Amino acid sequence: MKTQVKTYEMFINGKFVQAKNGGMREIVDPANGEPLALAPEAGRADMKLAILAARAAFDKGPWRKTTAQDRGKFLFKIGDLIRANAKALAELEVRNMGKPLVEAEYDVADAANCFEFYGGLATKIHGETMSVPANSMSFVLREPIGVCGQIIPWNYPLLMSAWKLAPALAAGCTAILKPSELTPLTALALARLIHEAGLPPGVVNIVAGPGAGAGEELAESPLVDKVAFTGGTLTGRKIAIAAAGNLKKVTLELGGKNPNIVFADADFEAAVDGALFAAFANQGEVCSAGSRLLIEKSIHKKFVDTMLKKISRIKLGHGLSAGVKMGPLVSAAHRDKVEGYIKAGIREGAKLVCGGGRPKGAEFARGFFVEPTIFDDVKPTMRIAREEIFGPVLSVIPFKNEAEAIHIANDSEYGLAAGVWTLNVNKGIRVLKELRAGITWLNTYHPTFNEMPWGGYKQSGNGRELGLYGIQSYLETKQVNINLDETPLAWY
Ligand code: NDP
Repeated sequence: MKTQVKTYEMFINGKFVQAKNGGMREIVDPANGEPLALAPEAGRADMKLAILAARAAFDKGPWRKTTAQDRGKFLFKIGDLIRANAKALAELEVRNMGKPLVEAEYDVADAANCFEFYGGLATKIHGETMSVPANSMSFVLREPIGVCGQIIPWNYPLLMSAWKLAPALAAGCTAILKPSELTPLTALALARLIHEAGLPPGVVNIVAGPGAGAGEELAESPLVDKVAFTGGTLTGRKIAIAAAGNLKKVTLELGGKNPNIVFADADFEAAVDGALFAAFANQGEVCSAGSRLLIEKSIHKKFVDTMLKKISRIKLGHGLSAGVKMGPLVSAAHRDKVEGYIKAGIREGAKLVCGGGRPKGAEFARGFFVEPTIFDDVKPTMRIAREEIFGPVLSVIPFKNEAEAIHIANDSEYGLAAGVWTLNVNKGIRVLKELRAGITWLNTYHPTFNEMPWGGYKQSGNGRELGLYGIQSYLETKQVNINLDETPLAWY
């Protein structure tokens, strides 16, 4: 599993370059701490160059005037190139981010689908016409919003790159994408494919660097028309404030503390599997993770006991090893943060029923692993029930009836996702309608589609990505009024 350390370059104005000041960051494999790559560490100066390139490409370049059909073809080509390089991209994602290979393969396929979906949508951007008084005509034009700054987190590096770039390009915008400094590799590999697809210089720029400096420049710059951010809620607030300088359009996809509600009349086995998958997929490093499991009291004990029997099936290890279902956390610092929450849960009196530590064995010694962890009898007021842990820690909260379940579920500053398990369809839909969340599931958890909107209520965000909704936030709306009458107005 030893890898050669490769040096990556970022992509500015159609060229592959290093940071102006020579800054580099060592990227490590989180499963074993071994050096994996060197990536450029851009600062404000590099970001300024990328913004100028995107500005020039939008204002003077051919992209905005490219036909929708041609933009669509470029996007399909990027989708094809992702598929042609799927194996390498999936393995790179595993090595950089830590997730199991099967999940990375799914992400890569989904990223290709995303480019294809928006490739098709490029030709379906239509305005409206209106009947207005005789001798005039009025219609609506949809136009690209301009230069888009796009900032993404480390948990789905390639997929988030696709979610951001594909709708922006379909709309005719130009973009500067900043991946997380921890996981820039698949975004930088994607830059090579975008170059191969033949996009004009400056249309897409991919700049690897930290939020402090490079990211801040992107959020603040008066030359940027829109910022699209996915990440933590605190950072989202900073981005919104920075973007206010020139009143950029802002979309925010932020954190969650998502309730997954199991009623006594659920399909028991399906709900147990669903609860584990909701909490532990991608090591729990998922904004929509079902990290609060609300179980009806009458089945609570049996449900927890059955989860405990099944949890040993979650095999930990390097994401490229056969049968591994859970990889390491993304970094030592993030592991420490997650462990801090485990300590807080114990201190506050929640019942630790499994996990809570680091797995034993030479295989895990240098990686950033945390065991899948379940706390039972968690009170809704505890920190582990209120704050986003973003790791493999599940908080089980028993409830007595439907009204209490809804109350606990909605008692959160977040409102990203929620799940409900019951075979009573009326009750399921009734409860879903009461939940203040942007993405909801009945008798399943996690499946989501490029064709459907993604985003949160409350402090989980602002605006929607994906689907038809996703492209709207990259479009301006222009009212056009035409006088068909040659007679002068004669108002004065
Ligand atoms: P952060 O908010 O720490 O970082 C996200 C991105 O923002 C990174 O690229 C980071 O750069 C950058 N950044 C940090 N500070 C600034 C700043 N002041 N100005 C501009 N850019 C900045 O989140 P994480 O990377 O830790 O990701 C985890 C979070 O993302 C979780 O809270 C999770 O819920 C959320 N998330 C939400 C999703 C959704 O769709 N709602 C999906 C996935 C994750 P760098 O790290 O390189 O310094």
